[in-house]
Amino acid sequence: MTASANNREDIAKKRVTILGSTGSVGTQALEVAKSLGFSITALAAHSDVKAMEGQIRRFKPEIAVLFDKDAADDLRLRVRDLQVSVASGMDGLCEAAAADTDIVLNSVVGMVGLKPTIAAMEAGHDIALANKETLVAGGALVMETARRRGIRILPVDSEHSAVFQCLQGSPPNKAVKRLILTASGGPFFGKTISELESVTPSDALKHPNWSMGSKITIDSATMMNKGLELIEARWLFDVAPVNIDIVIHRESVVHSLIEYDDRSVIAQLGVPDMKIPIQYALTWPYRFECGVKRLDLTEWGKLSFYPPDFKTFVCMDACRRAIEEGGLRPAAVNAANEIAVALFLNGEIGFLDIGRLVSQALDYPLPQPDGRLDRILETDAYIREKTTAAAQKSKR
Ligand code: MG
Repeated sequence: MTASANNREDIAKKRVTILGSTGSVGTQALEVAKSLGFSITALAAHSDVKAMEGQIRRFKPEIAVLFDKDAADDLRLRVRDLQVSVASGMDGLCEAAAADTDIVLNSVVGMVGLKPTIAAMEAGHDIALANKETLVAGGALVMETARRRGIRILPVDSEHSAVFQCLQGSPPNKAVKRLILTASGGPFFGKTISELESVTPSDALKHPNWSMGSKITIDSATMMNKGLELIEARWLFDVAPVNIDIVIHRESVVHSLIEYDDRSVIAQLGVPDMKIPIQYALTWPYRFECGVKRLDLTEWGKLSFYPPDFKTFVCMDACRRAIEEGGLRPAAVNAANEIAVALFLNGEIGFLDIGRLVSQALDYPLPQPDGRLDRILETDAYIREKTTAAAQKSKR
């Protein structure tokens, strides 16, 4: 038997919990886990009863959670013929996160993922992290908890997986000078502010390269997503924000790069398919066949790169300023964005109002962080209130 077959057998004994299992990353993670032979400890999602029932019947988790209580009650009835414990709410989410397993993949949408991430880490589980908002809002606390509990955080986001992969061969003296995050530019690359005035939710939901959930697709259209990723990278790789660059790369083939002190630059490339970073987070440090399309560079011919436009895409600029200020400011811009995106998707505010509301979150007075989760949650709630009130003025 070859060494890699042994590794494959060891990997197949892994148990995984997936939070956000009915979303885009969650469903792909389940396919990856199944192809690797993993067993599923727990599944959690927001409210999609039908999808969750299907996943329970197929993957046989011990615990299933729907955040929405009515949906969880419905689910409990539907699966009463099975040996699965059904729970709901934040308590249920944290129970699923803490249940005995090897790794927790967190792909829930938004700040709601922070508490379960902490619960999973306190229970001693490694984290495959796809929920960027929790690192944006709770970066210092999350990284400190990981250090204290000896937890590994394995990035699932394609850019951070790329940086993580580039770092695998890093020298003993580290010597990383700069991270270069690539960005597709989203559907509105090259547009002027006046051209963005009349953008509708359906325009903004058309992403050129990636198929994702609605929150992250809107975040890609406003480029908030890249700002959140800059903050996420600062925490994951402990690199000062001033040493993290953003480069627009339309084809999403180069997923990100690092520059070493000697000016050598290492990049990670691949077809834009989330299965690659999802699988690497679950199998690290090993690699296995993944079943995605092969990268044929001659098919692409040219790869293009452009500077980011911070003046038009003000959300990205607000994130950069928030992480430079530090403290609870990143939590504030994230909270404002979560409210603004929900209102935009609901047709209540315009596309450019998202950037206005997020930028306003740079100005509200904030307390100093005190290392407690509660202070982050209070700040999040305060900014949500402020942003909701500010949005009344822009309502159509
Ligand atoms: Mg990304």
